[in-house]
Amino acid sequence: AEFRRGDAASEHRDGLKRSAERHLIQPWPYAGSIGNEARTPIGSGDGIYITDGEGRRLIDGPAGMWCVNVGHRREELARVMYDQAMTLSYNTPWYTMSDPSAELAERLAAHAPGDLDHVFFTTGGSSAVETALRFMQFFNNVRGRPEKKLIISRGGAYHGSTYLSASLNGRPRDRDWMDGADDLVIKLTCPNPFRRPAGMSIEGFTDFLVDEFRETVTSRGADRIGAFVGEPVQASGGVIVPPPGYLPRIREICRENDILYISDEVVTAFGRLGEVFASEKVFGIEPDMITFAKGVTSGYFPLGGVMISSRLTEVLRKSNHAAAMFGHGYTYSSHPIGCAVGLKNLDLLEGGILEHARQVGPYFQERLKTLEDLPLVGEVRGAGLMACVECVADRESRNPLALDNDVGKRIDRHCHELGLLVRPLINMCVMSPPLTITREQVDHMVAILHEGISRTMDELRAEGVW
Ligand code: PMP
Repeated sequence: AEFRRGDAASEHRDGLKRSAERHLIQPWPYAGSIGNEARTPIGSGDGIYITDGEGRRLIDGPAGMWCVNVGHRREELARVMYDQAMTLSYNTPWYTMSDPSAELAERLAAHAPGDLDHVFFTTGGSSAVETALRFMQFFNNVRGRPEKKLIISRGGAYHGSTYLSASLNGRPRDRDWMDGADDLVIKLTCPNPFRRPAGMSIEGFTDFLVDEFRETVTSRGADRIGAFVGEPVQASGGVIVPPPGYLPRIREICRENDILYISDEVVTAFGRLGEVFASEKVFGIEPDMITFAKGVTSGYFPLGGVMISSRLTEVLRKSNHAAAMFGHGYTYSSHPIGCAVGLKNLDLLEGGILEHARQVGPYFQERLKTLEDLPLVGEVRGAGLMACVECVADRESRNPLALDNDVGKRIDRHCHELGLLVRPLINMCVMSPPLTITREQVDHMVAILHEGISRTMDELRAEGVW
């Protein structure tokens, strides 16, 4: 339905706001606003744009939550959902299967690196990471290695909001007030070159990270460590692109020590870095499992999954415990509508959007980099069509500014007035637009960001906090 306008529209919106404030709990609320918070209403979307409650058209800077890869309002995807629902809306994955699930599994296996030929479909990213971790536990139980269960994660990581996946999260704000399975997890240093110790070269920092990993394996014991889980580019941690060569070296240590390498591509897969899967094509690593979600359906339907190596399924098939059940699954595993959307979405990506993303990605990075001319900006970094603008009080100390200044939110507020939604992250702003963004639209986005950051600088100066 078109967005309502005029007095009736504004009354309608106020009513919705009251309903949300009374009844709706949105993700990641603060204690003081649970059950009393209405967020920015969004009425509709089209291409790279969304329209807010005031009827203002905004560039969807974060593509929802890194997910609307082919853009909003794709008729092909709407149609495929309708058609599949009218053919078969649901089938139990317990002892039946649907055509789209088998077809999508085959198409994904063709794109996945090496022998990652199997897929277990889930309902999203958290459930994908949870599945990979529980599969590692099951794998080690069945092959008689029940002690080999510890999981290595890193600072800055985000892997989900189920109990075990969330236990891997490395951002303080995710963990401060939350419990976790801490005895199962080892956290290593965030591989953020911008935050490396003063005076250390990038090569020195890489060696430091690799040594830390190796020493951890030695000190905790390879026979107790089951998996390493890592995003190729840490997304929610602030688009942290690891130093060159680091991931392959970690991959090698995992191989030497029989530690499963789980590459969390919930954000990086399906074109964000120009490839269906980035692990091998962009970073030169062949993991044991790859988790994915988001871009697999461009956010049109909740779906995720884990690509699993045939080497692992072979070990299980040949074990002496053929009757051991992997007691794990979701009602919506292999959902026919989700898989049908996944197939059509893959058609769109293969039909030109991946190529477009590869073309426009370097331009997007180059244009955003010009924001480093602004004194508030400490670094602009990124890869493909994901980037982060990190603000600092001064470039010498790289001090990220007092948290309560909420610089990211201020920039978001100014940009919103100017026609761009950004994703604020404390002192950072993250951008990951739909992959269909054109060069002209990139220019427009960067111009708005430039103005939004300039206004933020004026505001901070006027308040005397910068
Ligand atoms: N892994 C990564 C790398 C993510 O960025 C996210 C979500 N932002 C998740 C896992 C969790 O996915 P979901 O929110 O679909 O459960």
